[in-house]
Amino acid sequence: MKILSAISFLLLIITGCSISAEKGKDSEIKPTSLYNFVVIFADDLGYGDLGVFGHPTIHTPHLDQMAQEGQKWTQFYVGASVCTPSRAALLTGRLAVRSGMTSKNNRVLFPDSHHGLPQTEITLAEQLKNAGYVSGIIGKWHLGHKKEYLPTQHGFESYFGIPYSNDMDNVSLLAKQDYSSFWTSEARKKTESFNVPLMRNEKIIERPTDQFNLTKRYTQEALLFIEKHKNQPFFLYLAHSMPHVPLFASESFEGKSKRGIYGDVVEELDHSVGQILNLLKNHGLEKNTIVVFTSDNGPWLVMNSEGGSAGLLRSGKGSTWEGGMREPTLFWSPGNIIPGVVSELGTTMDLFTTFSALANVPLPNDRILDGVDLSPVLFHKKESPRKTVFYYRGDELYALRLKGFKAHFKTQDPYSNFYQTHQPPLLFNLNVDPSEKFDVANEHPEILDAIMEIRLEHNKKMIKGPDLLRDRG
Ligand code: MG
Repeated sequence: MKILSAISFLLLIITGCSISAEKGKDSEIKPTSLYNFVVIFADDLGYGDLGVFGHPTIHTPHLDQMAQEGQKWTQFYVGASVCTPSRAALLTGRLAVRSGMTSKNNRVLFPDSHHGLPQTEITLAEQLKNAGYVSGIIGKWHLGHKKEYLPTQHGFESYFGIPYSNDMDNVSLLAKQDYSSFWTSEARKKTESFNVPLMRNEKIIERPTDQFNLTKRYTQEALLFIEKHKNQPFFLYLAHSMPHVPLFASESFEGKSKRGIYGDVVEELDHSVGQILNLLKNHGLEKNTIVVFTSDNGPWLVMNSEGGSAGLLRSGKGSTWEGGMREPTLFWSPGNIIPGVVSELGTTMDLFTTFSALANVPLPNDRILDGVDLSPVLFHKKESPRKTVFYYRGDELYALRLKGFKAHFKTQDPYSNFYQTHQPPLLFNLNVDPSEKFDVANEHPEILDAIMEIRLEHNKKMIKGPDLLRDRG
């Protein structure tokens, strides 16, 4: 024990960290200093696409180990089923309908969109700055590509990545060719078919982006960021562009997995996670760093075998069925976060609240936040304070979960204008029926009443932001 204490003391001096995990009376380790935060956000990764979440042929040994050393969350959600509103929710801790990052017309921002995340919003990077954090984003932003909306205007010290999705600036669209036949042509496999810019801070440094080496370069940048800031509290937001279609893997991974190019890409992401966790361990930073791995929305099913899998969950990206918004999520901080499988409720919006609490930054009191502090689950394996999940499509509430039960007021295919309203709503017991197959509304009128009451209160208090996705061209 003395040797271990001496090593810990030495690490303290070397890393300059003031970490001092204290053993409580019930032997729980309590966090007592500022944590670093790393959020690794995959793009369109499905609930069933990792080894540890049951995929039979995609090998993800580093994520599997991360799950073993940390918490695997089986009921963790994003704020929306598509990129822009999901990212807005994560970074602001608020449903995107409040910040204007939803619309009836456009579901996300496009290269010809006029607006982006408004300055009036407080991002996690801005919030943590109040506690002396330095924040960096590497990867996909998708909250406004014009200068006034870029990450450097939203609290991030540095930015390396692409400003929107990797399928945008599609040259076939620009040439007004047939968009659907493009996706079955060989052109989709060429990086120059997507004239996406790669940016450093506010400047375009490459166009089109070399997408084959994008994951690799993001990873190198992430490692550099950690090296550079290892002696101060940092927040690293690593928002991978993959496995969003078009899929590109570097030479070391292409053609290597049993699951085709989709598997190659996910295995490269896994390798990236391994490199980041190893670097943190090498510096002793795992003791005061929380790493979260999740995805911005469910799998893009219309892309067939190039899209992922939601496993046993229904539907995928673009949908308010579970497959669209429940994501494979891991929390990791060895010695702090109690390892195990967690079936409590959590959302990406809770990261804003949880990280603020851990960094001792008071929450803004001039706006409604939608997050809760997940610390009781992370550090004490207690019940989650979260009891509800709101499923928005655009600016409209389609479904609501209360504890184990979820009611659908409206359902719609991910990419169709056809919708159905449900009166009475459909009701599913997600603890028993995660695939949402068996409507139990008739058996539980009291639960439906409780959900309708919550919906009424929610709608009464909802102040929607202006539609900032509408203006284009
Ligand atoms: Mg996405």
